[in-house]
Amino acid sequence: MMRTIGLLGGMSWESSVEYYRIINQEVRRRLGGTHSAKSVMYSVDFHDVEALQHEGDWEGATALMVAGARAVEAGGGDFLVICTNTMHRMADEVQAAIEIPLIHIADATAAAVADAGIDRVALLGTRFTMEDDFYRGRLQHGHGLDVHIPDAVGRAIVHGVIYDELVQGVIEDRSRARFVEIIEGLVAAGAEGVIAGCTEIELLVEPADVAVPYFPTTRLHALAAVDWALADQDPAAI
Ligand code: GLU
Repeated sequence: MMRTIGLLGGMSWESSVEYYRIINQEVRRRLGGTHSAKSVMYSVDFHDVEALQHEGDWEGATALMVAGARAVEAGGGDFLVICTNTMHRMADEVQAAIEIPLIHIADATAAAVADAGIDRVALLGTRFTMEDDFYRGRLQHGHGLDVHIPDAVGRAIVHGVIYDELVQGVIEDRSRARFVEIIEGLVAAGAEGVIAGCTEIELLVEPADVAVPYFPTTRLHALAAVDWALADQDPAAI
């Protein structure tokens, strides 16, 4: 029996559409023929999310995420996939508010890093993802990874490009070059791989743009969702 994937999206829709595409392509690849994924998506207005984040109103942001997660559950999702790294900041509160399990994006990513046999990784994402403990700490303490982030100037560039360009559907060669330069600096300082820790970064930087293993979180999270959807037994055993 195929489980129904519950997607909490719109953060931004530029990456949610990638989740939808990757999930359906993978189900077709694995089951063949006319198969596609069973899914429901609740998609927010990202303007509201972005305003709450930048005002530092994390309580308001949590309330918004809990409401969205409940809508996904009520809509028939068998498990929850939050389609953004940053908004895993309140993953514990969201999980506590619903009955269905939440598939954490950092866990799906860390599993791929472990499979690649490395443990020293660069992390690019929003300022919140790079600087706060909810994501980096989970990688470090939960998965034993040594996580390197750009310096303050690099972090400001990455954060700015995400909000001013990528979530607005703007893909610029100049920004790709800046990201690659930042990644190369982290690799020169010892990083053995790089996590695209924002769901839009893989729209800008592709694996071929970097010389080390590249971990695109949208793709990895979407593939983990398919594993859960198609697992015969209790997916928690995967
Ligand atoms: N999609 C981005 C992420 O993965 C940023 C958007 C957001 O702030 O949720 O973190």
